[in-house]
Amino acid sequence: MPNSATTASSNKYDIVIIGGGPAGTTAASLLAHKGWDVLLLEKDSHPRFHIGESLLPMTLPILDELGVLDKINAIGIPKYGAEFNSSTHSNSKETFYFSDAWDKSHPSALEVVRSKFDEILFRNTASFNVDARENCKVIAIDFPDSQSTELNFIDESGEHRLVSAKFLIDASGRETFLSKKLKLKQKSKKHNTAAIFGHFTNVERREGKDAGNISIYWFKHGWFWMIPLQNDLMSIGAVCYPEYLKKRHQSVEKFFHTTVDLVPEVRERMINAEAAGKIRATGNFTYNSSRMYGDKGENYLLLGDAYAFIDPVFSSGVQIAMSGGKLAADAVDTLLRDPSLNRKPLKDYEKKISKALKTFSWLIIRFNSPAMQKLFMAPGNQFRIKEALISLLAGDLYRNTPIGSRLLLFKFIYYLTFFGNFPKAWANYRRRKRNVPNIFQGGTTAQDRQESKEDITD
Ligand SMILES: Cc1cc2nc3c(=O)[nH]c(=O)nc-3n(C[C@H](O)[C@H](O)[C@H](O)COP(=O)(O)OP(=O)(O)OC[C@H]3O[C@@H](n4cnc5c(N)ncnc54)[C@H](O)[C@@H]3O)c2cc1C
Repeated sequence: MPNSATTASSNKYDIVIIGGGPAGTTAASLLAHKGWDVLLLEKDSHPRFHIGESLLPMTLPILDELGVLDKINAIGIPKYGAEFNSSTHSNSKETFYFSDAWDKSHPSALEVVRSKFDEILFRNTASFNVDARENCKVIAIDFPDSQSTELNFIDESGEHRLVSAKFLIDASGRETFLSKKLKLKQKSKKHNTAAIFGHFTNVERREGKDAGNISIYWFKHGWFWMIPLQNDLMSIGAVCYPEYLKKRHQSVEKFFHTTVDLVPEVRERMINAEAAGKIRATGNFTYNSSRMYGDKGENYLLLGDAYAFIDPVFSSGVQIAMSGGKLAADAVDTLLRDPSLNRKPLKDYEKKISKALKTFSWLIIRFNSPAMQKLFMAPGNQFRIKEALISLLAGDLYRNTPIGSRLLLFKFIYYLTFFGNFPKAWANYRRRKRNVPNIFQGGTTAQDRQESKEDITD
């Protein structure tokens, strides 16, 4: 039962959550709403920079449930679709509109500046009575028994604090606090890339209804994104193959512009661009963890990027983080109300998250292959396959809809196309499996001392 005896000033809580990003704030708000006493610890103070600005339509109902949709609408611009560009196809531009999805009732999403978006979510936790604290960095955890977890953090005045809780949720993002501590983190062997990105003004925007669409550009060494934001800002970034990144002998900034020069369509849109902030790089891109929850009776679960990170080409990160936050809140609430259920609610949580990650990953891993490009640039809607694909792009991951069977058909067509283009497709497969060089790696191993340097700016 919810712990009504504890107060915000005591050091005992029902649930402690590490990380005040979209995942942590969603889980914290919904658990507090269910009556639990929740402590949310964030090491930075909002607003703080974060990449990941393009949202999916199915995130909007969650924002509505949290009571922040109006505020987020006010800082965002509407996104009705995703535009894919390939200079090697006769049809060089194809836009997928969310209004063409299987379920037509979620026709738009939003593009948001993440510092503002995350701050709204964080401040909103107060309306649910979450004890949410900034500038509080979690440094150690222990699981003395199956009933509790102990957690050490440094608070805003530099003091060490010890708190205990019945359950711990790690939503620490790419820091992967618990996954690293418990040595659960593993780099993706199938998809090895890194990203360089920045914000610019004075970049050519699309017109009318398309003004808020994300643009994706395939190029020889990976893909580019362009995400239009408010106040004339444009988020621009490239996700590149390891063999290309190995060639970097310039500063991150110069390397970014050299890469832009390789894609005439991007360069043209940036002809009058002015940088608004520094160019950053993030390495050691994709990973997951070998466990999602304490399977030996320890009461913890991993949420959002703290569990896994997949390539952001389909803008799935915030949707997986927030829908995961909702599922995590249900699972933890069910478990704490009836501990005799043992690990069952956590297993159910894992099953749903794994399925969502797997569905996206299958597409992402093959995204740069000639076969996938061909299917994206000339999509047919036989058997409503295109509608199913757009539903996936809209983040429609957990509902009981018939899109699964159509995505299976899509896979079948993909494999036919793959074998039809075998030599090229095989060469691409070999490329994406090579290692990302150290210069962009955040790192996960003892040898790799770059662990805490996910953001590289020089
Ligand atoms: C290059 C790139 C482009 C992307 N583009 C998109 C996109 O267009 N659309 C999209 O949806 N997603 C995108 N993503 C992914 C998206 O940014 C993430 O999936 C999303 O932010 C995950 O949310 P989260 O809450 O799990 O983690 P985060 O948002 O990272 O939040 C984690 C929080 O935990 C805090 N924290 C970490 N360690 C500690 C600690 N020890 N103690 C206390 N607090 C701690 C951090 O300060 C942070 O605030 C992109 C990611 C990258 C790298």
